[in-house]
Amino acid sequence: MLESVAVKKQPKTVSKSVYKINDFNLWYGNDQALNEINLDIPANKVTAIIGPSGCGKSTFIKALNRMVELIPSVKMTGSIMNDERDIFSSKYKVEELRTNVGMVFQKPNPFPKSIYENVAYGPKTHGIKKKKVLDEIVEKSLKDAALWDEVKDRLQENAFGLSGGQQQRLCIARCLAIEPEVILMDEPTSALDPISTAKVEELVQTLKEKYSIIIVTHNMQQAARISDRTAFFLNGEVIEYRETGELFSNPSDKRTEDYITGRFG
Ligand code: ADP
Repeated sequence: MLESVAVKKQPKTVSKSVYKINDFNLWYGNDQALNEINLDIPANKVTAIIGPSGCGKSTFIKALNRMVELIPSVKMTGSIMNDERDIFSSKYKVEELRTNVGMVFQKPNPFPKSIYENVAYGPKTHGIKKKKVLDEIVEKSLKDAALWDEVKDRLQENAFGLSGGQQQRLCIARCLAIEPEVILMDEPTSALDPISTAKVEELVQTLKEKYSIIIVTHNMQQAARISDRTAFFLNGEVIEYRETGELFSNPSDKRTEDYITGRFG
């Protein structure tokens, strides 16, 4: 009895990982794009991937949901564990992985359908048919994506009538509707104006309470503003991976320092 009380009182000090990447390599044909990547990505945090163009950021994030395999020349070695499950194992179906791991792309890519149907699409493909349940999911997802108030009176209108920033928040709502654990974001604000960018950045901060977010950005100020941890990639390698504040204020590698102070990139 005493023992169980003692166990209950222990503080939760160990933070959970959503991804463990071990000795991961990736080639496009003979060209190596990722080289011995080892990263442990924490749950319920925002992890930023930064680095100059062509350093492998997008390739890396697309490996995390196995999207990169759509390119026939791709070869990989090493392992990527999502919640201690090997994402390349035959027991972990790619459809299940993509339900656990949603993705938001650089350019907003709503379907040519109504605002409502964009959000209801994922739950419908997962077999949810009841209108009341779908209505609830649509409302909750749009609220969580900070878009509900702007669209609640025009849910049946085509999504293409929304502004670029609204379309990107709609794509985030579409992603939330399937209740993923992780949200991958590949330069999600690079096509947006500053006001829409600020809205998405604010949203990312609130979403991390429920989701683990991995965001690729070429914008260092953005990484510094919104992420908890940052990985600096260069030529397909992780040069430094630490708490964001530490990486930007006290980089341990000269190459990180040169990059964040604008000497190249
Ligand atoms: P980043 O996102 O940092 O700009 P990428 O992951 O897009 O970098 O690219 C990393 C490297 O892989 C680059 O040298 C790029 O040319 C190469 N690469 C990316 N996509 C492909 C592809 N589909 N086929 C061949 N090489 C590619």
